[in-house]
Amino acid sequence: MLALHNVSRTYPNGVHALRGVTLHIGPGLFGLLGPNGAGKSSLMRTIATLQPMDAGSITMDGIDIFADVTSHRARLGYLPQDFGVYPGLSARMLLDHLALLKGLTDKASRRAQVDALLEQVNLWEHRHRAVSGFSGGMRQRFGIAQALLGDPRLLIVDEPTAGLDPAERSRFYNLLSAVGEQVVVILSTHIVEDVRQLCTHMAIMNRGQVVCEGVPDDLVGEL
Ligand code: ADP
Ligand code: ADP
Repeated sequence: MLALHNVSRTYPNGVHALRGVTLHIGPGLFGLLGPNGAGKSSLMRTIATLQPMDAGSITMDGIDIFADVTSHRARLGYLPQDFGVYPGLSARMLLDHLALLKGLTDKASRRAQVDALLEQVNLWEHRHRAVSGFSGGMRQRFGIAQALLGDPRLLIVDEPTAGLDPAERSRFYNLLSAVGEQVVVILSTHIVEDVRQLCTHMAIMNRGQVVCEGVPDDLVGEL
């Protein structure tokens, strides 16, 4: 459904962050594995239409994503690596506020979606607590809820498991696996275990290029 062809990006400082990336991403959980500086975040920001590319094309279901960025973004959930939260607001209030910003203006259906998402990410019992006081794992689960507002078809998560302890990590894996059954997920990570546990397809990036792609069991064994 998402097709990238020869995507390149050189930043104004001269860094060649993406050098001819070609990828096909279908249903399920797609892992983008690579070391720091490989270009994963640059690629994800480009797919989210948050930054331009210099060459190449990206289509979703055959349609150029830059042709109509508003409708593309409406179908997209994006969880950046470091997302900020307003201090003080409770999880439920904050999610409701973010839903409103996303255009969910009908109060009753917005509330219903917010509460369903809090259940889904296992934060219902913490709904009255401030997100700024959450643990790293809770915060990442809140981030998934936030990114799923408005029922996106494509969810992009950038390095979501960095800094999580093993218990939080496995909880997060369970959540993301369940989400991956409903939505196309692209996950960037430098942690091999993430793709081994979660992903149905994967690509390995290095220095702005896709080095190989395929099924994790075939590729990860060689790392
Ligand atoms: P990764 O997510 O795999 O760590 P990035 O996409 O963040 O890789 O970075 C790829 C390269 O591009 C790195 O050398 C990084 O320093 C550089 N880079 C990333 N963002 C910018 C930017 N906004 N301006 C200039 N260089 C950038
Ligand atoms: P990541 O590795 O996930 O891309 P970074 O810490 O590299 O995270 O980047 C964080 C922010 O800093 C991003 O907005 C990125 O565009 C910007 N950035 C990264 N590298 C550079 C750089 N060399 N010059 C300018 N901005 C950069």
